[in-house]
Amino acid sequence: MSEPLFPRVRKSIEALPTYKAGKKAQAVDGLSPYKLSSNEIALEPLPSVLAVIAQAAQDINRYPDPFATELLEALAQKLDVSVDKIAIGTGSVGVCQQIVQAMVDAGDEVMFAWRSFEAYPIISSIAGAVSVQIPLRDDGSHHLEAMAAAVTPRTRVIFLCTPNNPTGNVISQLQFDAFITQIPADVLVVIDEAYVEFNRDEDAVDGLASMLAHPNVGILRTFSKAYGLAALRVGYFVGPQHVAQAVMKTAVPFGVSSIAQAAAVESLRNESELLARVEVVTQERKQCEEQLRELGVELHPSQANFMWWALGDRTDEFANVCMRNAIAVRAFSGEGVRISIGEPEAMQRLVQIVREFLAES
Ligand code: PMP
Repeated sequence: MSEPLFPRVRKSIEALPTYKAGKKAQAVDGLSPYKLSSNEIALEPLPSVLAVIAQAAQDINRYPDPFATELLEALAQKLDVSVDKIAIGTGSVGVCQQIVQAMVDAGDEVMFAWRSFEAYPIISSIAGAVSVQIPLRDDGSHHLEAMAAAVTPRTRVIFLCTPNNPTGNVISQLQFDAFITQIPADVLVVIDEAYVEFNRDEDAVDGLASMLAHPNVGILRTFSKAYGLAALRVGYFVGPQHVAQAVMKTAVPFGVSSIAQAAAVESLRNESELLARVEVVTQERKQCEEQLRELGVELHPSQANFMWWALGDRTDEFANVCMRNAIAVRAFSGEGVRISIGEPEAMQRLVQIVREFLAES
């Protein structure tokens, strides 16, 4: 046993893994580097968004609006809900943390599928909660029956990530409807829709409609992915009014900068242009999936801006081969690789790497 270090850090925090961000691609002679490891949009920001960012930068000597009033109003209008049902935070991961802080006492349970978004267990531990992780089915989908069966009187929050990071599967409306009837009214079910704009499966759960239909359901969304504002950190929760208000209370004051607020409002104004770019990504996903499947790669049916290849023991080997070819993918050692949909040239190179990888094995 090592000597304790003073001043003492909470044991649960010492034991925490550090959040692993997607790696950058290494420079390799003659090859443009591509980062396919963080599920970002590869396209550059819209000029109109850059213009409001420059404008907002003029006022950075002032604190931002702590209530993000303009952004709340724009979201309320877009979603057709009242502003008091919405809570903003520093990226949806920030909002996720605010939710857990608002709902959970020490020793309470936070449930989610595993593998899923890797911040869930970290956030739960920080709050002193117990993570209840229910294994995904072999096809990468949520095992909702097992999740419903695992609810106890201490369960406070259930995160359902759809499309799921990293497997890409969606939960269907039918599956969700069957699930929610089994969940007690005092448990908050949060549908994490970080990737919802990339979904093209009409049978997938409609988070907003489900939220409106059930008093214990909320949704979590972000400007980081489809709206291309990952570096600015804006996300939001929509749910029951008293929960949204509590989620506002647990936010870091002034967390969302004025630059981020202005960029998010402008992105909503330009939503159709941004969503047209999302269409390009889903087309690219379709094409790339087809090419990989032709090579014999077994992919889960992804509705996100990434694909999951359950490579098991060969995961790190494949990620290293990609790295040597100036492509960064996200490796989950021993499980699989998550490959974000990026530039067409990146995807072509990726397919070529896979072809050679399979030929050599
Ligand atoms: N939820 C899921 C499922 C995610 O994959 C991510 C980003 N990796 C987030 C939330 C958080 O994204 P952000 O904080 O950038 O909104």
